[in-house]
Amino acid sequence: MRAARWLWAGLMVGAVAAQPVYTNTDIHSLKSRYLPKAIRASRFPPSYPALFDSKPYQTPKYVAWMLPFQDWADEYRAYFDRHYHDPRIQLQPSLICMHYTVTDSAEAVWNSFNRGCYMSNGNKGSVFGHVSVHLMIDQAGTVYQLLPFDRRCTGAYGVNHKAISIEMVASDEGDLLSRTRQVWSSFCVVRDLMKRYNIPAQGIIAHYEVSQGKTVVPDYLDYNDTEVPDRYPEKYARYDPGPTYMGWLRSYLQKNPP
Ligand SMILES: [Zn+2]
Repeated sequence: MRAARWLWAGLMVGAVAAQPVYTNTDIHSLKSRYLPKAIRASRFPPSYPALFDSKPYQTPKYVAWMLPFQDWADEYRAYFDRHYHDPRIQLQPSLICMHYTVTDSAEAVWNSFNRGCYMSNGNKGSVFGHVSVHLMIDQAGTVYQLLPFDRRCTGAYGVNHKAISIEMVASDEGDLLSRTRQVWSSFCVVRDLMKRYNIPAQGIIAHYEVSQGKTVVPDYLDYNDTEVPDRYPEKYARYDPGPTYMGWLRSYLQKNPP
Protein backbone atom coordinates (compact mmCIF):
# COMPACT_ATOMS: atom_id res chain seq x y z
CA MET A 1 0.00 0.00 0.00
CA ARG A 2 3.06 2.16 0.32
CA ALA A 3 3.30 2.38 -3.46
CA ALA A 4 -0.31 3.47 -3.70
CA ARG A 5 0.34 6.29 -1.28
CA TRP A 6 3.22 7.50 -3.35
CA LEU A 7 1.06 7.38 -6.44
CA TRP A 8 -1.46 9.66 -4.72
CA ALA A 9 1.21 12.07 -3.51
CA GLY A 10 2.90 11.92 -6.90
CA LEU A 11 -0.29 12.66 -8.70
CA MET A 12 -0.93 15.72 -6.60
CA VAL A 13 2.59 17.04 -7.00
CA GLY A 14 2.75 16.08 -10.67
CA ALA A 15 -0.41 18.04 -11.27
CA VAL A 16 1.54 21.28 -10.83
CA ALA A 17 3.54 20.86 -13.99
CA ALA A 18 1.62 18.53 -16.26
CA GLN A 19 -2.04 18.84 -15.37
CA PRO A 20 -2.98 22.00 -13.49
CA VAL A 21 -6.40 20.85 -12.28
CA TYR A 22 -8.09 17.71 -11.06
CA THR A 23 -11.74 17.13 -10.29
CA ASN A 24 -13.80 15.84 -7.38
CA THR A 25 -14.27 12.64 -9.36
CA ASP A 26 -10.51 12.13 -9.48
CA ILE A 27 -10.25 12.75 -5.75
CA HIS A 28 -13.08 10.32 -5.10
CA SER A 29 -11.60 7.53 -7.22
CA LEU A 30 -8.30 7.91 -5.37
CA LYS A 31 -10.03 7.98 -1.99
CA SER A 32 -11.92 4.81 -2.85
CA ARG A 33 -8.64 2.92 -3.21
CA TYR A 34 -8.14 3.23 0.50
CA LEU A 35 -11.52 1.85 1.50
CA PRO A 36 -10.50 -1.82 1.96
CA LYS A 37 -7.60 -0.70 4.14
CA ALA A 38 -9.85 1.50 6.28
CA ILE A 39 -11.59 -1.63 7.58
CA ARG A 40 -8.42 -2.33 9.54
CA ALA A 41 -9.51 0.44 11.91
CA SER A 42 -11.62 -2.30 13.48
CA ARG A 43 -8.47 -3.69 15.11
CA PHE A 44 -8.49 -0.64 17.39
CA PRO A 45 -10.52 -0.82 20.61
CA PRO A 46 -13.82 1.08 20.70
CA SER A 47 -12.58 3.43 23.43
CA TYR A 48 -9.78 6.01 23.40
CA PRO A 49 -6.42 5.28 25.10
CA ALA A 50 -6.96 5.33 28.88
CA LEU A 51 -3.82 7.41 29.41
CA PHE A 52 -5.64 10.39 27.81
CA ASP A 53 -7.67 10.84 31.01
CA SER A 54 -4.51 11.39 33.04
CA LYS A 55 -2.78 13.66 30.49
CA PRO A 56 -3.00 17.32 31.52
CA TYR A 57 -4.93 19.36 28.97
CA GLN A 58 -2.71 21.68 26.96
CA THR A 59 -3.97 24.77 25.19
CA PRO A 60 -2.97 24.15 21.57
CA LYS A 61 -0.43 26.27 19.76
CA TYR A 62 -1.71 27.31 16.35
CA VAL A 63 1.18 27.66 13.93
CA ALA A 64 0.30 30.10 11.13
CA TRP A 65 0.53 28.55 7.64
CA MET A 66 -2.08 30.77 6.05
CA LEU A 67 -3.57 30.24 2.61
CA PRO A 68 -3.93 33.39 0.45
CA PHE A 69 -7.59 33.61 1.49
CA GLN A 70 -7.79 37.38 0.93
CA ASP A 71 -7.33 36.76 -2.80
CA TRP A 72 -10.37 34.47 -2.79
CA ALA A 73 -12.87 36.88 -1.22
CA ASP A 74 -14.96 37.42 -4.38
CA GLU A 75 -14.88 33.72 -5.26
CA TYR A 76 -16.05 32.82 -1.72
CA ARG A 77 -18.84 35.42 -1.67
CA ALA A 78 -20.18 33.90 -4.90
CA TYR A 79 -19.79 30.36 -3.48
CA PHE A 80 -21.68 31.16 -0.28
CA ASP A 81 -24.36 32.97 -2.22
CA ARG A 82 -24.87 29.97 -4.55
CA HIS A 83 -24.91 27.24 -1.90
CA TYR A 84 -26.29 29.00 1.20
CA HIS A 85 -28.02 32.13 -0.18
CA ASP A 86 -25.76 34.08 2.17
CA PRO A 87 -22.79 35.81 0.52
CA ARG A 88 -21.08 36.71 3.80
CA ILE A 89 -17.61 35.23 4.23
CA GLN A 90 -17.39 35.92 7.97
CA LEU A 91 -17.83 32.84 10.16
CA GLN A 92 -19.52 32.56 13.54
CA PRO A 93 -18.72 28.91 14.20
CA SER A 94 -21.35 26.64 15.74
CA LEU A 95 -20.03 23.32 14.35
CA ILE A 96 -16.61 21.64 14.20
CA CYS A 97 -16.16 19.19 11.32
CA MET A 98 -13.37 16.59 11.51
CA HIS A 99 -11.54 15.17 8.47
CA TYR A 100 -8.48 13.23 7.44
CA THR A 101 -6.49 14.12 4.36
CA VAL A 102 -6.14 10.69 2.61
CA THR A 103 -2.55 11.60 1.82
CA ASP A 104 0.41 11.55 4.19
CA SER A 105 1.96 14.86 3.09
CA ALA A 106 0.74 18.04 4.77
CA GLU A 107 2.62 20.07 2.18
CA ALA A 108 0.90 18.32 -0.75
CA VAL A 109 -2.47 19.11 0.82
CA TRP A 110 -1.57 22.76 1.43
CA ASN A 111 -0.34 23.04 -2.17
CA SER A 112 -3.53 21.52 -3.57
CA PHE A 113 -5.63 24.01 -1.56
CA ASN A 114 -3.44 26.87 -2.79
CA ARG A 115 -3.58 25.71 -6.41
CA GLY A 116 -7.36 25.22 -6.58
CA CYS A 117 -9.35 22.59 -8.42
CA TYR A 118 -12.65 21.95 -10.14
CA MET A 119 -15.14 21.48 -7.34
CA SER A 120 -18.74 20.31 -7.31
CA ASN A 121 -21.27 23.02 -8.12
CA GLY A 122 -24.39 21.22 -6.95
CA ASN A 123 -26.14 19.60 -9.90
CA LYS A 124 -24.77 22.32 -12.19
CA GLY A 125 -21.49 20.61 -13.04
CA SER A 126 -18.23 21.82 -11.57
CA VAL A 127 -16.57 25.16 -11.10
CA PHE A 128 -12.94 26.12 -10.51
CA GLY A 129 -12.33 27.24 -6.95
CA HIS A 130 -10.24 26.88 -3.82
CA VAL A 131 -11.00 24.27 -1.17
CA SER A 132 -9.81 25.28 2.29
CA VAL A 133 -9.93 24.26 5.95
CA HIS A 134 -9.10 26.14 9.13
CA LEU A 135 -6.62 23.73 10.68
CA MET A 136 -4.35 20.89 9.62
CA ILE A 137 -2.84 18.62 12.29
CA ASP A 138 0.22 16.73 11.10
CA GLN A 139 1.41 13.27 12.18
CA ALA A 140 3.51 14.70 15.02
CA GLY A 141 0.52 16.61 16.39
CA THR A 142 1.62 20.08 15.23
CA VAL A 143 -1.42 22.24 14.55
CA TYR A 144 -1.21 24.50 11.51
CA GLN A 145 -3.70 27.30 10.96
CA LEU A 146 -4.57 27.84 7.30
CA LEU A 147 -7.50 30.25 7.71
CA PRO A 148 -8.64 32.59 10.52
CA PHE A 149 -11.50 31.20 12.62
CA ASP A 150 -13.73 34.16 11.74
CA ARG A 151 -13.57 33.31 8.03
CA ARG A 152 -15.75 30.73 6.30
CA CYS A 153 -13.91 27.83 4.65
CA THR A 154 -15.06 25.45 1.90
CA GLY A 155 -13.82 22.15 3.38
CA ALA A 156 -17.14 20.54 4.35
CA TYR A 157 -19.70 20.97 1.57
CA GLY A 158 -23.14 21.42 3.18
CA VAL A 159 -22.08 23.00 6.50
CA ASN A 160 -19.44 25.53 5.44
CA HIS A 161 -21.71 28.39 6.54
CA LYS A 162 -21.37 27.24 10.18
CA ALA A 163 -18.37 24.94 10.56
CA ILE A 164 -14.73 25.10 11.48
CA SER A 165 -13.04 22.33 9.45
CA ILE A 166 -10.04 20.41 10.80
CA GLU A 167 -7.91 18.10 8.63
CA MET A 168 -5.73 15.43 10.23
CA VAL A 169 -2.89 14.20 8.04
CA ALA A 170 -3.54 10.47 7.62
CA SER A 171 -4.09 8.02 4.79
CA ASP A 172 -7.06 6.37 6.48
CA GLU A 173 -8.70 5.88 9.87
CA GLY A 174 -6.41 3.05 11.00
CA ASP A 175 -3.36 5.16 10.11
CA LEU A 176 -4.78 8.06 12.16
CA LEU A 177 -5.68 5.94 15.20
CA SER A 178 -2.17 4.47 15.29
CA ARG A 179 -0.68 7.87 16.26
CA THR A 180 -1.72 8.79 19.81
CA ARG A 181 0.16 12.13 19.73
CA GLN A 182 -1.81 13.30 16.72
CA VAL A 183 -5.12 12.02 18.11
CA TRP A 184 -4.42 13.63 21.50
CA SER A 185 -3.54 16.90 19.78
CA SER A 186 -6.85 16.85 17.90
CA PHE A 187 -8.76 16.27 21.16
CA CYS A 188 -7.06 19.31 22.76
CA VAL A 189 -7.87 21.43 19.70
CA VAL A 190 -11.55 20.46 19.78
CA ARG A 191 -11.74 21.19 23.53
CA ASP A 192 -10.13 24.58 23.00
CA LEU A 193 -12.47 25.57 20.16
CA MET A 194 -15.60 24.30 21.94
CA LYS A 195 -14.76 26.50 24.88
CA ARG A 196 -13.71 29.49 22.80
CA TYR A 197 -16.87 29.50 20.65
CA ASN A 198 -19.31 27.90 23.10
CA ILE A 199 -19.94 24.95 20.77
CA PRO A 200 -22.00 22.11 22.30
CA ALA A 201 -21.06 18.42 22.04
CA GLN A 202 -23.66 17.79 19.33
CA GLY A 203 -21.85 20.39 17.20
CA ILE A 204 -18.83 18.09 16.86
CA ILE A 205 -19.37 16.25 13.57
CA ALA A 206 -17.55 14.06 11.05
CA HIS A 207 -17.27 14.74 7.34
CA TYR A 208 -18.84 11.31 6.66
CA GLU A 209 -21.86 12.36 8.75
CA VAL A 210 -22.16 15.61 6.76
CA SER A 211 -22.11 13.56 3.56
CA GLN A 212 -25.06 11.51 4.89
CA GLY A 213 -26.93 14.82 5.01
CA LYS A 214 -29.72 16.55 6.85
CA THR A 215 -31.10 13.52 8.70
CA VAL A 216 -27.74 13.14 10.47
CA VAL A 217 -26.58 16.78 10.48
CA PRO A 218 -29.69 19.02 10.66
CA ASP A 219 -27.69 22.15 9.69
CA TYR A 220 -26.94 20.68 6.25
CA LEU A 221 -27.86 23.17 3.53
CA ASP A 222 -27.35 23.34 -0.23
CA TYR A 223 -29.48 25.62 -2.40
CA ASN A 224 -27.37 24.86 -5.44
CA ASP A 225 -28.29 21.19 -5.83
CA THR A 226 -31.95 20.83 -6.80
CA GLU A 227 -31.64 17.07 -7.48
CA VAL A 228 -30.05 16.00 -4.17
CA PRO A 229 -30.45 19.06 -1.93
CA ASP A 230 -30.20 17.36 1.47
CA ARG A 231 -27.10 15.11 1.27
CA TYR A 232 -24.12 14.19 -0.92
CA PRO A 233 -24.92 12.27 -4.10
CA GLU A 234 -23.81 8.63 -3.69
CA LYS A 235 -20.71 9.07 -5.85
CA TYR A 236 -19.40 11.82 -3.55
CA ALA A 237 -19.91 9.91 -0.26
CA ARG A 238 -17.18 10.61 2.31
CA TYR A 239 -15.66 8.28 4.89
CA ASP A 240 -13.39 10.57 6.94
CA PRO A 241 -12.42 10.52 9.75
CA GLY A 242 -14.27 7.27 10.56
CA PRO A 243 -16.66 6.02 13.26
CA THR A 244 -13.98 4.71 15.66
CA TYR A 245 -12.15 8.06 15.74
CA MET A 246 -15.47 9.87 16.33
CA GLY A 247 -16.39 7.39 19.08
CA TRP A 248 -13.05 8.09 20.78
CA LEU A 249 -13.48 11.84 20.45
CA ARG A 250 -17.07 11.92 21.69
CA SER A 251 -16.52 9.65 24.68
CA TYR A 252 -13.36 11.61 25.60
CA LEU A 253 -15.28 14.91 25.49
CA GLN A 254 -18.09 13.45 27.55
CA LYS A 255 -15.65 12.37 30.25
CA ASN A 256 -13.43 15.47 29.93
CA PRO A 257 -15.75 18.34 29.01
CA PRO A 258 -14.12 21.62 27.96
ZN1 LIG B 1 -13.23 15.53 4.62
